[in-house]
Amino acid sequence: MVPMSVTTRFAPSPTGYLHLGHAFSAFNARKRARDAGGRFLLRLEDIDPARCRPEFAAAIVEDLNWLGLDWDGPVRVQSEHLAEYRAVLDRLAAQGLVYPCFCTRSDVMRELSASAAAPHAPDGAPLYPGTCRRLSPRQRADRLGAGERWALRLDMAAALRPGLFYEEAGEGRIACHPEAFGDVVLARKDAPASYHLCVTHDDAVQGVTLVTRGEDLRPSTDLHRLIQALMGWPVPAYAHHRLIVDTDGKRLAKRNRAVTLRDMRERGIPPMEIIERLRAEAPPAP
Ligand code: GLU
Repeated sequence: MVPMSVTTRFAPSPTGYLHLGHAFSAFNARKRARDAGGRFLLRLEDIDPARCRPEFAAAIVEDLNWLGLDWDGPVRVQSEHLAEYRAVLDRLAAQGLVYPCFCTRSDVMRELSASAAAPHAPDGAPLYPGTCRRLSPRQRADRLGAGERWALRLDMAAALRPGLFYEEAGEGRIACHPEAFGDVVLARKDAPASYHLCVTHDDAVQGVTLVTRGEDLRPSTDLHRLIQALMGWPVPAYAHHRLIVDTDGKRLAKRNRAVTLRDMRERGIPPMEIIERLRAEAPPAP
């Protein structure tokens, strides 16, 4: 069920130039809002300093303007809100739901390769074997005191809440299984907060009522729903859309060098032509 007053958002990460798949996402989100007389927001998820670049952020704004996909209000830029994410982590820490993890990626891989099964979380990350969860308070204090770098992980067994679900447009109630993520990282050693934490926080503070995004992000919704429950945040409805594929049937992705909106502009393709293609691909409103 879609709420009466709809607020949607497009929340790209400025790690590359937008391609048609992003434009489809933005188009869908904006259409859902405009059709309902609601608001459409733009948010730049630039929380990962290693992968995000200011020139890509500027290009996102420029490319959306070129396509005529205008949004309401100021652009929210995640890197300008680090204190808010820190406060969320502090609240989770006060409830005893996070712990510092000193493991490097290779520590995790080594430990996993020693066990027969190497299960993965729904987002493809290897499931953390819980090494640092088992540290004694003394060991933890020593390692923190020695200045070792650490990430913050959710203690899933402690955090898990039963019976969570969300509403998916056109499908109804979807039961959540956030435990499949295990002790997920909520703040990385090299990034102040994770995608999962920031996206959920921002959807709440921005009053997003309908999260529209690609089907590839659907598995993460179970975890986002748990974070909402832990923090007492409102729960938006979700509308995950299929991904646009190229002529070989492969999904468009920055890493596959999908044709970007910039390339199309340089080739003289009129924005209306792109919008018409997006309109033809767009799912009907439920
Ligand atoms: N920033 C995420 C990405 O670019 C999308 C976040 C979302 O729509 O939930 O993949």
